[in-house]
Amino acid sequence: MDEDLTDARTPEEKRATHAGQHPDLRERLDAMSWQCTQEAATERPFTGGYCDEKRPGTYACVACGEALFTSEDKYDSECGWPSFTTPMDDAPVDHRTDTSHGMSRTETTCGSCGAHLGHVFDDGPGPSGDRYCINSACLVLEERIGG
Ligand SMILES: [Zn+2]
Repeated sequence: MDEDLTDARTPEEKRATHAGQHPDLRERLDAMSWQCTQEAATERPFTGGYCDEKRPGTYACVACGEALFTSEDKYDSECGWPSFTTPMDDAPVDHRTDTSHGMSRTETTCGSCGAHLGHVFDDGPGPSGDRYCINSACLVLEERIGG
């Protein structure tokens, strides 16, 4: 949960910069991926393609391709979204307080391109207690062949 002091831009500013550099982004992403990453929407529970995904590999940001999570840290939380105990070591995942919808939650975004990813809750099973609850639509699994 460290703050990245070298890049003080907000996720919205990062998204605007990234979109300016990649004008094809809207065409490349499907509607749900666009809404989740760029407009901080949340896919409906149990609808995401990676909810029950078990294949080994690396989960990258769908918008910029930055590796963010691995299958080793994914677990079955039964909450309806892919859940991870932690991001990858040194992965650029940003955190900030989100008070929308009458709740106080911790929003996670891609530190590289500002894409909204999901939220962190404190009911995870690992030593940190973190549950990274991430939209499938914000991720791309790069499957690791051979385990
Ligand atoms: Zn990204």
